[in-house]
Amino acid sequence: MTTNRTFTMIKPDAVAEGHSGSIIKMIEEAGFRIIAVKKVQLTAERAGQFYAVHRERPFYQALCDYMSSGPIIPMILEKDNAVADFRKLIGATNPAQAEEGTIRKLFAKSIEANAIHGSDSDENAKIEGDFFFAGLEQY
Ligand code: GDP
Repeated sequence: MTTNRTFTMIKPDAVAEGHSGSIIKMIEEAGFRIIAVKKVQLTAERAGQFYAVHRERPFYQALCDYMSSGPIIPMILEKDNAVADFRKLIGATNPAQAEEGTIRKLFAKSIEANAIHGSDSDENAKIEGDFFFAGLEQY
């Protein structure tokens, strides 16, 4: 049922400021079930692997430094139409452009420190979920 799953991470700024509980509550109230969850801190190198697609972008190094600056909470989530519905719940990349009531509008500090990640396709949801959880118990 890969198409009914997405992958998310609560990012270092939101974890550090104690917003993870509020964010998980919003996720569950929106109808997503948590399939896998943990709290980890990435090295800059590992963050670079996760965001390799952005390797040529000017903000790549800053993004890797930020994403390895503190613990994050990666999760695999399940719900009908998970990828699209979750992108709607989190809002636009830049919180200044995010809709009212979205997670980024409520909790993001900047276009970089934007509180939460959400996969942009079923294919990437599977790749990103496996990045953090493959090899562990079945999920
Ligand atoms: P997303 O799919 O909404 O997360 O956005 P992207 O895939 O385009 O970018 C990945 C992540 O890189 C974003 O969530 C931000 O944390 C960061 N990012 C995106 N655009 C910028 C930018 O213009 N400047 C900086 N500093 N960070 C950015």
